[in-house]
Amino acid sequence: MSNVWPLSATRDSDGALSIGGVDVRDAAAEFGTPLFLLDEADIRARAGAYRRAAESVGARKVYYAAKAFLSTAVARWVHEEGLGLDVASGGELAVALRAGVPGADLLLHGNNKSMSEIESAMEAGVARIVVDSFEEIVRVADAAARAGIVQPVLVRLTIGVEAHTHEFIATAHEDQKFGFSVSSGAAEEAIRRIVKLPPLEFRGLHSHIGSQIFDTDGFEEAATRIVAFVARLRDDQVIEVAELDLGGGMGIAYLPSDDPLAIGDLASHVSGVVARECAQRKLPVPALAFEPGRAIVGPAGVTIYEVGTIKPVVIDGGVRTYVSVDGGMSDNIRTALYDARYTVELASRTSDADLMLVRVVGKHCESGDIVIREAHLPSDLAPGDLLAVAATGAYCRSMASNYNYLPKPAVVGVIDGSSSVVLRRETIEDMLMLDPGA
Ligand SMILES: *Cc1c(COP(=O)(O)O)cnc(C)c1O
Repeated sequence: MSNVWPLSATRDSDGALSIGGVDVRDAAAEFGTPLFLLDEADIRARAGAYRRAAESVGARKVYYAAKAFLSTAVARWVHEEGLGLDVASGGELAVALRAGVPGADLLLHGNNKSMSEIESAMEAGVARIVVDSFEEIVRVADAAARAGIVQPVLVRLTIGVEAHTHEFIATAHEDQKFGFSVSSGAAEEAIRRIVKLPPLEFRGLHSHIGSQIFDTDGFEEAATRIVAFVARLRDDQVIEVAELDLGGGMGIAYLPSDDPLAIGDLASHVSGVVARECAQRKLPVPALAFEPGRAIVGPAGVTIYEVGTIKPVVIDGGVRTYVSVDGGMSDNIRTALYDARYTVELASRTSDADLMLVRVVGKHCESGDIVIREAHLPSDLAPGDLLAVAATGAYCRSMASNYNYLPKPAVVGVIDGSSSVVLRRETIEDMLMLDPGA
């Protein structure tokens, strides 16, 4: 059984959930609900563990994938723990720079980077730009020439491996928008063009095979295919590859039954596969990089909701109780989008009452506005109780919307009994300010 709660989560003497030494009832009273709590010590511990695991296998760098959740505070925490950041837009770049992360610790992604995003990245001196199309090779080279610099680049590959959770598929997943296909020859052609352009310095290859991956098979297949491609580039006398960035996708526990890989195991396994494949082909071993997002912030975050309407509904063979909370698909779209599963607990107190079958739903005008499809909560649950949903640190606030004109929730960092605002709650006034007629 995996722990799905942040490392510091405990129950106070009177039964209420506390995170980072902060009672969730106090946090809800001070900052309002819905509320995201982020366990700072947990994020730092995960970032530090990734850095040490990478160092222990001689990897070059770990970049935190900022899209999972980004604010200046989180950028500083992970950077202080020795991680770089992977940013995928001008907005993410701006937050990272505002946090004081130097360009030398940044990597820029994106399948459709604008000229201004490319120029801002170069102005900041980003360490790597991951190029994703033939047009972009020309755009990045032109921008570098105008800036009078030589820009180090990686080439994003599509290698026909796609992994999600327990399964990976090693065929036919080339039909997607990211990267250059290896099998069609596009990737080799891209590299041939890059090496002829003096404003670009080809550093290596990038591959990201998916997300929420629980085993090493997909990474192993990807690494094997990439090294075969590296050998072909040598045999065809195109270039020697110095770096391999293997992307992110490391899974986390949303349910106690989920069984994610330990980071140290993954790093040593993958680096072992790369070393073995390189040895067989008499290739120098390229320096590795990784880009975990979810695995850094996901488990450290919890959403606190207040219970509102409670409605028993007769279903086949019983009753399902719909428990409405004061947020929903605007602060957690993952259930509607990916049928994601979550763990929920009554957080403001404990209860000895029998459990009832519930569906936790939001307050939006969609019947698909479901936070948790199926859970069991005490049958004495009442309006005003607080619920905590575990492992919402990644891809919840960062994918939040203002659907139904709900203000986005605050994100509050908690550590050693104190709380600090990471992102303040939006107000209705904030939203009205965008409307010149209001
Ligand atoms: C999303 C993404 C990541 C991070 O994925 P996680 O599943 O959050 O670890 C890393 N690299 C790239 C290119 C991505 O698109």
